[in-house]
Amino acid sequence: MKDLETSATDQADNNDASNANIGKFVDPKITAKGDTRATVALSNPQTLWFNTGTLCNIECENCYILSSPKNDALVYITADEVSDYLTQLKDQNWGVREIAFTGGEPFMNPEMIEITRRSLAAGYEVLILTNAMRPMMRKSMQAGLLELNAAYPGKLTMRISVDHYDADNHDKERGQGSFETTIKGMSWLRDNGIAMATAGRTVWGENDAQSRQGYADLFERNNFNIDAQNPGMTVLFPEMDENIEVPEITTDCWGILNKSPNDIMCSSSRMVVKRKGADKPAVLACTLLAYAPKFELGETLAEAERDVALNHPHCAKFCVLGGASCSRN
Ligand code: SF4
Ligand code: SF4
Repeated sequence: MKDLETSATDQADNNDASNANIGKFVDPKITAKGDTRATVALSNPQTLWFNTGTLCNIECENCYILSSPKNDALVYITADEVSDYLTQLKDQNWGVREIAFTGGEPFMNPEMIEITRRSLAAGYEVLILTNAMRPMMRKSMQAGLLELNAAYPGKLTMRISVDHYDADNHDKERGQGSFETTIKGMSWLRDNGIAMATAGRTVWGENDAQSRQGYADLFERNNFNIDAQNPGMTVLFPEMDENIEVPEITTDCWGILNKSPNDIMCSSSRMVVKRKGADKPAVLACTLLAYAPKFELGETLAEAERDVALNHPHCAKFCVLGGASCSRN
């Protein structure tokens, strides 16, 4: 059996050349059909993401970053490393509003409270993606969250993964009993006035309205102050199937689809990761492609200011097309 790090690398390779997309997503400038590939400029930086490390307390079906209790392909980022990027942010004058953290499970990182403290102290809003399970509920993490939420009111939000509003469906993805544990964690956040958003999946054949109604009922039953109708508060993600054929995105696509590069996530964010064995962290184009080497832009924010070539199936499927099609491809 392969180790997880190798599997992650293989996944990156497969992402680029799955059977359905052979010959595509190769040249950063030109598509397989010889057209000019679309690029996205960092036109409006809003969020700097950090991956806190890929270790997670659980191992979900279909975790996009293959997190588990064993996968440390991305190691814990330290508070000092985060501070270095916060300084770079000021130097580069990006004007971002928010520092956001994803994992793995961020509260597995022993420095998570100090990392959060430094981000808040630097004047940013902080968003932490968490499963709200045991790592967040440890006494030291609870105490830190209470202290920081009191010191920086309205600046700290937890976005909790609730794959489905139905316990059985959630547990199929995340393991028996995980729904109940997450609801307990969310209840603790509710009781202590810590702001919450949620992230779910849309893999059960429901339409958007049905999903949102299900979440609305769950939030009402539990008195959670989360707006199920607001896509920014209740974020619903499609499944990320690497093997579906997708067209490549050319410069013509913007006009055909009536979309702007400024609508795409890599126009407004970057993500810092620390790879196992690396001396320093690296800056990636976005949160979706943690293992794809060609989306690593350099070690510094200055290097990461360059345009991103939309040279991956995810760019087409999740970011540009979103279910539409670009007829010239
Ligand atoms: S809780 Fe999140 S990071 Fe952890 S395995 Fe599940 S989806 Fe991945
Ligand atoms: S998947 Fe591609 S288009 Fe989407 S944010 Fe990442 S680099 Fe940009």
